[in-house]
Amino acid sequence: MENKLAALKYPFNGLEPYLDAETVEIHYAKHHQTYLDKFLDAVKDHPDLLAMPAEDLLRDLSRLPEAVRKPVRNFGGGFANHNLFWGNMAPPSDKREPGGALLGRMEADLGGFDAFREAFGKAAAGIFGSGWAWLVENNGKLEITTTGNQDTPISGAKNPLLCLDVWEHSYYLKYRNRRAEYIEAWWSVVDWNDVEERFAKFFRA
Ligand code: MN
Repeated sequence: MENKLAALKYPFNGLEPYLDAETVEIHYAKHHQTYLDKFLDAVKDHPDLLAMPAEDLLRDLSRLPEAVRKPVRNFGGGFANHNLFWGNMAPPSDKREPGGALLGRMEADLGGFDAFREAFGKAAAGIFGSGWAWLVENNGKLEITTTGNQDTPISGAKNPLLCLDVWEHSYYLKYRNRRAEYIEAWWSVVDWNDVEERFAKFFRA
């Protein structure tokens, strides 16, 4: 399997006015691309690792040769996290919340959609420095969690359904230091169909 940047499902301006075109373009074409380039460079002398999806390497970092562990964690993590981040978003639509089995599971595990939204937003706002907020599957339950830098819940045996990048590069051009405004705006471009598809993969009926 070749690790490469997946094409965006939307043009750079497709998430306007919530995420501005310039930020999306720089974030995707520069930041995400650089994570991928540095990840590939870190494993270039290891054909066995090069042939594996970054996500598989991140699942158990302790199995990796020590020399590549840190760059895989940082750059492989950055590459994998952004794959999910772009896929989790879509141009604004009428579908502003999950339905079906995912909604039911949110009610059971997280107190419903409104409670989830509030807790997730609070978690994202509360991250000190750079990192990510996540909705994950953990032992058959939905859970909200956060990671610092480019760490991923995959390394902790959790399966991500939804993620939000709160590195400043994801919002600073439009929102400056106002992370809370960015988080609030981001809800309008969450692709709940994508999150439901991931949910179906990790929660088999
Ligand atoms: Mn980012």
